[in-house]
Amino acid sequence: MVPRAADVVIVGGGSCGSVLAARLSEDPACSVLLIESGAGDPVPASPTPAHILPIGPGSPRVRLYSTTLRRGLAGTLVRGRGPGGSGAVNGAYFVRATPADLESWGSTIGGGPGRTGWSYGDALPYFRRSENDRDFGSSSAHGAAGPVPVSRRPAGEWSTTTARFVAAAEAMGFPGEPDKNAGGPPGIGPVPCNIDRGMRVDPGSAYLAAAAERPNLTVWTGATVAGLQSTAGAVRAVQVIRDGESLLVEAGTAVVAAGAIETPALLWRSGIGDPRILGAATVHPLPGVGREFSDHPEITVPYDPVPRRPAADPLVAERVPPPILEACLNLNSGDGAVEIRPYTASFGDAVPGNPRMPPVLGAALMAPRGRGRMVPHPTDPLGAPRIEHHYLSDPRDKAAAVAAVDLARGLLDASGIGAPIDGMTPHLGTSQHLSGTCPMGSDVGTSVVDQCCRVHGIAGLYIVDTSVFPRVPSRGPHATAVMLAERAAEFIASGFP
Ligand SMILES: Cc1cc2nc3c(=O)[nH]c(=O)nc-3n(C[C@H](O)[C@H](O)[C@H](O)COP(=O)(O)OP(=O)(O)OC[C@H]3O[C@@H](n4cnc5c(N)ncnc54)[C@H](O)[C@@H]3O)c2cc1C
Repeated sequence: MVPRAADVVIVGGGSCGSVLAARLSEDPACSVLLIESGAGDPVPASPTPAHILPIGPGSPRVRLYSTTLRRGLAGTLVRGRGPGGSGAVNGAYFVRATPADLESWGSTIGGGPGRTGWSYGDALPYFRRSENDRDFGSSSAHGAAGPVPVSRRPAGEWSTTTARFVAAAEAMGFPGEPDKNAGGPPGIGPVPCNIDRGMRVDPGSAYLAAAAERPNLTVWTGATVAGLQSTAGAVRAVQVIRDGESLLVEAGTAVVAAGAIETPALLWRSGIGDPRILGAATVHPLPGVGREFSDHPEITVPYDPVPRRPAADPLVAERVPPPILEACLNLNSGDGAVEIRPYTASFGDAVPGNPRMPPVLGAALMAPRGRGRMVPHPTDPLGAPRIEHHYLSDPRDKAAAVAAVDLARGLLDASGIGAPIDGMTPHLGTSQHLSGTCPMGSDVGTSVVDQCCRVHGIAGLYIVDTSVFPRVPSRGPHATAVMLAERAAEFIASGFP
């Protein structure tokens, strides 16, 4: 006899899973079981300072994966592990997808009159519902009653690096973008962050704080879902490893929110994927699983900072340590969307355990054409997938990268925050924004879920996390992931009386 644990079983208590658990358990008639593989309290007793990223060597809060960023260039991917997932360890930049990003999703998803669409107008109520915008308050563009506090560091408190970078960008004629969450044209401006008094407020703690005590919500941490069982085109149960034991939990509705790497891995382990890869293990053919993904390549330009003289410098008024990014420049050039990031600290200082390293400007391609690919581990079903990013494989991405680095160097020169270090070449890395490994769409040959996040052809099975983005937005994905989960919670709830 398989125990029926809850009406809805959610796999993964990260950014999206936490939102789903909180929203679905608002209905006392709906019982919810949230299963998170990382250990820890669902609502951590002490939040982490936003200027520290706890992702360094040996951190128990992350899992690392190897990737090939481009031929001959290995890279490391980081994913959060534990309540809050990647949102609990990230840079706390909380910027929405743009209207153009969401229009481009619509063309893949195939919405239209009378169908569920993903335009900016469709998404806006859910962006508003998720946030408490401390700067703009409640308006047609913003919410003031949501769980995630959003604020921009006032210009008067900017670090020297930010103040000088913004002044240089303005002097070079780039337009201002005072509110990067207003859906307006790109420019130079402050970064909205999910920070409260210097502390990162991730969706895990923001949403679960209000929900954790509900009798209809159960959270298991340190428990991993090893597989999904489906028969006759419907999900039946999830297989869980908990306290070293394997148990089968009946799932009327199962929602996979294990993130853009572990979600496809779990589908593969459950026989869902491309039959040409899974062979005889195929239970339900869906060739779109892992077929392609998108992520933001980032080229970092290391520099020697000009020594600071806080007392003598009118631009300096540092109080609580700044977040890693206080302001950035977004622009759409002929080669695509670009984001130039004046990081306020070196990643040697911001990431505990990292070696000393110089500060950098980041030049990220925000609408890359190149697509990555993921396939299951060749021999170990529980092993990490094989990941290839294929960064800069498209000549237009290469041209955009060269132009972005030139612009970053120009801004470095003009701002006087430092000088590029001779002999240290710009370094190609990743922004850690991997998305789209199980994309939303109407074509069952290439997509994995429909416009309501239902897995094609398997009743009762949803995927709600960054793996369903048709493509990575041209801003960081976190705010958009939370919006997606807010909206998907409604889709799922509408399946309950
Ligand atoms: C270092 C870093 C910095 C970043 N900085 C930013 C930023 O500043 N701004 C921004 O917009 N984006 C940023 N991102 C990206 C953003 O944080 C992620 O895109 C987003 O949090 C992903 O949300 P998710 O719900 O898809 O997955 P996650 O938040 O990763 O959640 C997945 C959860 O599922 C759990 N899980 C996995 N497999 C299983 C299983 N089999 N059983 C049970 N549980 C499982 C994991 O432990 C994890 O908790 C950053 C990411 C990283 C890693």
